[in-house]
This record gives sequence, C-alpha cells and structure tokens, in this order.
Amino acid sequence: MKTIGYAAQSTTSPLEPWAFERRDLRPNDVQMRIDWCGVCHSDLHQARNDWGWSSYPVVPGHEIVGVVTAVGSDVTKYREGDRVAVGCLVDSCQHCDQCEKGEEQLCREGNTQTYNGRDRITGEPTYGGYSKDLVVREEFVLRMPDGLDPARAAPLLCAGITTWSPLKTWGVTEGTRVGVVGLGGLGHMAVKLAVGLGAHVTVISRSADKAADAAELGAHALLVSSDKAAMKAASDSLDLIIDTVPVEHDLNPYLPLLDVDGTLVLVGQLGPIPNMSSLPLLLARRRVSGSPIGGIKETQEMLDFCAEKGILPDVEMIRMDEINHAFERLEKSDVRYRFVIDMSTLDAAA
Ligand code: NAP
Ligand code: ZN
Repeated sequence: MKTIGYAAQSTTSPLEPWAFERRDLRPNDVQMRIDWCGVCHSDLHQARNDWGWSSYPVVPGHEIVGVVTAVGSDVTKYREGDRVAVGCLVDSCQHCDQCEKGEEQLCREGNTQTYNGRDRITGEPTYGGYSKDLVVREEFVLRMPDGLDPARAAPLLCAGITTWSPLKTWGVTEGTRVGVVGLGGLGHMAVKLAVGLGAHVTVISRSADKAADAAELGAHALLVSSDKAAMKAASDSLDLIIDTVPVEHDLNPYLPLLDVDGTLVLVGQLGPIPNMSSLPLLLARRRVSGSPIGGIKETQEMLDFCAEKGILPDVEMIRMDEINHAFERLEKSDVRYRFVIDMSTLDAAA
C-alpha cells in the first residue's frame, strides 16, 4: 500500500514529507491507521545517526497508537475498529528461549525494531510511526485498555515500558527506594510507575528547576546532582537507580547513592562510560547494569497497570509539521515531558 510519513533523508536533513510503500498484508498481519505518535529521544538519535547504524531514509516513531483498519486471514486477536498500539518491536524469531519467555527484546536472533530495522522475510527496511499507516504482525500489536486516554497514552509504548521493565526486573515494590536520574520522557514515566508500585522515589536532576514538577509527579524528593553536600548526605540511600541521561556522562557521583547490593540501571546512553571507578562497586557490592525496552507481554501488563492506576504521561500535543522544532526543543530538555504528534495533521503537512 502507498502511504506517507515524515522522514530524515540524511544525518543533517530535517524531517520532511516522504511517500513510500508499506508491505501488503500477510496472513498474520494487522494494518492500522496511526492516530498519535510520541517523540522519543531515540528518534532524534537515529534521525541524526548518533548510534552509527541509521539507514536512510529514517521514518522515526515507536510510540504508536491507532485503530485497526484491516487484518490478514489468519489474525484472530484483532478486528477492524479495535484501538491498538505498537511500540519499539515489530518482530523477533518467536522460538528462542527468550522469545518463549516473552522477552522478545532479548531475542537470540536479534529483534526487529519498528524503524531503522529490517523485515525478517524480505530484508526491506522498517519505517516507524511518523506516518499515516502501519502494517505489523499480530503478535507485536498491543491492545489499548479501555479507560486509558489514547491521545496521551502513546509514550507508554517506549518511555513507559523502558522504565517499567527494570522496575519489575529489580523487584520494585512497596517501600523500595528508587532514584531516577534525568527528568525527561523516560524519567517522568519512571517516577509515575515507581510511585504506582509504592516505591519511595527520588529524582536526581541537574538543577532544582523541576522540583515542583517532580513533587507533582509523585516523587518524594529531588536531589540536585551538582550539589555535592546534598549528594553526600544521600549516600547509601537508594536500592535502585534508573539512569535516563541520553549522553555520555560521569557515573561516579551517582554510585555512592546506592545502598549495599543496590543497582544502577542505564537505560539512556549507549557507549563508553568514562572514568568509572570500581571503588564504590567493590566497597558495597553495588552493580551497574543496563536494560533495553521490554517484551510484549510485559508491555501489555504495563498498559493494563496504567489503566488500573490512572497513570498517563504528561504530554504536549504537536502538529506533524512542528516536528523539527520539537526535536530542537527535546535536545534542550524543553518539554514537559513528552511531545506527541497528532497524526491527523499529517495530510495537511505532507
Ligand atoms: P529526554 O526526554 O531528552 O530526557 C533526558 C533527560 O536527561 C533530560 O530531561 C535531562 O533531565 C537529562 N539530561 C539531558 N541532557 C543531559 C546531560 N547532558 N547531562 C545530564 N543529564 C542530562 O530523553 P528520553 O526520551 O527520556 O530518552 C532518554 C535516553 O533514553 C535517550 O538516550 C534515549 O535514546 C534512551 N532510550 C533508551 C531506551 C532503551 O531501550 N534502553 C528506550 C528509549 C529511550 P534533567 O533536566 O532532569 O537533568
Ligand atoms: Zn523510545
């Protein structure tokens, strides 16, 4: 099928309208109209090839909410008109031990990303949610629970699951002391989800500017990372830190905040960790780990949890033709806390 979207044609070009083909429906495919798409910092990284594996054109977007418009002959879970969502994954091998556990993000054969990936059958590039329509195999489609405002929910599909997955992996529950480094798209979801699980949450930000916001999001405290005295006073006070900073940064100020056996989980930056001292790790059996998005089953559980608890991202709705300005603002952390594109504005912008 012919469709349209917004694509980056090179590392330096702005996103612009682009007409392209989506594959015809396979028997196990769902076709959807995209209504809303969140703007993740990963979209910016990949439009600009920050990670070195972008293949152009890049149509970003992996926080996708829409409506089913057609289904293949073997599809059993969805029907035309269903309110559905798609996140960062559109395929995996489906038979390795990780896929069988529902951890498709850890597929032994490598998962297929929603954009900037390769279709497992044809090898064609995958294109993301800054577009009018999407075709995805049934197993990678999520059901939007009733009671979750679909216009605001899109960021749950990446920012939500990427922070939910480590909260669950490290067993966060009533009273767990959780730190969140960086209050952006991922960070604000980490706060809301951890609070929803009953944790005691501390935001660790570069300044006190977001203190009132942090409190409103439900956080119990805010630490300013440059305030050495406050950071020292908070030594050994956290069980888990989720670090969402998108660029290379020094971990040494954060590690002493962990109590014995505490873990700092990197979900933001990809690449080298400069000058990390092993001393705080050895002295208190602290750990540094990382975590990629989350599996499909876990994503559905997170969506259902958010519906039950009334948890929704804080969003600023934009038109499709505002995306380049939104990228500039995202880079300056000038969004509280996630841009969402109203995709009904695409036709007029294309
Ligand atoms: P974002 O909205 O831009 O938020 C990042 C936050 O980090 C900012 O709000 C800011 O918080 C802090 N920050 C920004 N620049 C910083 C700097 N130079 N030094 C220290 N702190 C800084 O980004 P996002 O969408 O949440 O994404 C965050 C990162 O996660 C990106 O790198 C993205 O690619 C990655 N990501 C990873 C996965 C995964 O699977 N692991 C999934 C999605 C996204 P303060 O102002 O509070 O300091
Ligand atoms: Zn993302």
